[in-house]
Amino acid sequence: MKAIAVPLRVIVDPVAWSSLLFLASRMPLGLLYFLLPAGIGAAGVLLVPLAGIGVAVLVVALMIAWALAAFERQLGRWWLRVEVRPSASDAPGHGSWWVRLRAFVSDSVTWKSLAYLLLQLPLGVVVFPLFGGAAALALGLMASPLAYLVFVVAARPTDLDLIAFLQRLGMALGGAIVGILVLHLARPAGRGYGLLIQLMLGVGFADVELARARSEAAAEHARAEDLEQKRRDLIMSMSHELRTPAASIQGHAEALLSPNDLSEAERRRFLEVLAREAARVGALTDDLLSIARTDAGALQVDLGAVDLAELVDHVYDAMTPIARRDREITLTRAVDPGVPAALADRDRLSQVLMNLVRNAITYTPDGGIVSIRVSSADGERVALVVEDTGVGIERADLDRIFDRFYRTDASRSRLTGGFGLGLAISRELVEAMHGEIRAESEPGSGSRFTVLLRRAA
Ligand code: ADP
Repeated sequence: MKAIAVPLRVIVDPVAWSSLLFLASRMPLGLLYFLLPAGIGAAGVLLVPLAGIGVAVLVVALMIAWALAAFERQLGRWWLRVEVRPSASDAPGHGSWWVRLRAFVSDSVTWKSLAYLLLQLPLGVVVFPLFGGAAALALGLMASPLAYLVFVVAARPTDLDLIAFLQRLGMALGGAIVGILVLHLARPAGRGYGLLIQLMLGVGFADVELARARSEAAAEHARAEDLEQKRRDLIMSMSHELRTPAASIQGHAEALLSPNDLSEAERRRFLEVLAREAARVGALTDDLLSIARTDAGALQVDLGAVDLAELVDHVYDAMTPIARRDREITLTRAVDPGVPAALADRDRLSQVLMNLVRNAITYTPDGGIVSIRVSSADGERVALVVEDTGVGIERADLDRIFDRFYRTDASRSRLTGGFGLGLAISRELVEAMHGEIRAESEPGSGSRFTVLLRRAA
């Protein structure tokens, strides 16, 4: 029973039926494909002497061929279920009309497609009788018992001849066998056609590889240029930033070295300036190292579950003396109970939080408050917030404070200000931890920086 069922399965195989349909369409479509481009093309050749018109007609013939090839490609996808790579000419292309036309004409796929279209008629002449004829024969044979009943018996019921009817039934069985055979043959024939379509209507493997290699090389080139530009910008900004402390160090050192009648208090002040500027240059070097690492793609974060309460305690303990000693600023902390651990790199996150708190202290006048808070932002993320009651940030600056070397006027007018790298580095670090950093501010009232991190699973 099973042995009989297997060959019959083809009856319910959609690919066999659609392949048969494709094969049967070869002759009529082949005729169309032959007449349209070839006919118009021939007219174009005849018209060539008529200044340009003939060439235009030839171009139209090629365009029609291109559209028909695109239709065939689609037919191949639908009916033969073959994967056809797009033709290069499918892409809209760039450049002027003339450039695109030249690219189209010099594209080998254009000519292969034309050859494919012209081949359809001769192929159809062979395939159509083979499959179309055989399918028609099968249908005719299968319909013969019905035809016998309708035309002979219905006219004169007394003429019913059982033997003749059984003969018709036998013919129907033969027709069914022919039909099944045709369906069985349609699949490999369809596959053959599919190969032909892949070969002639799609871009070849070598072309695909070449195009991919070209686009990869172009992307690599763009990346290298971008990196080079970044490096140039960094060197420019760095030299610019170093000029002021270098001049200050040189000026104060020379004043101290030259024969002078500086008072002890003045000497001490000069030395303090030297120490402060040297510390700033040292901090800048650290920042530059961080930046260089990110630009070189060498920034590595070691992600794990970080206990934010412990981290906040650590930063709080480190920063409280600075807030109190340097300024009259109160530092507070609050961690919501039950906040889950964050997915982060503990040391890097500590660097980010230190930077935010240091900024908050720097840009808050004496008597102000800086608070660190941790809460669950939403189901997926936890929030680390640093808020101050300081000078605030103007709307126009808010969008730019995360840019490298960007400082607001408030910072530029302060001697202790950094180099505008802290927030840029913080953002790069937070993003490397799959998080997000935001700033909000009310100029004159204070600022709020929020770091959103994924909760550790
Ligand atoms: P810097 O090292 O100069 O502080 P950052 O990148 O950390 O550089 O900050 C960039 C700029 O953003 C600062 O120069 C400052 O103008 C502004 N800024 C940062 N934090 C605050 C804050 N809490 N309040 C006001 N302005 C701030």
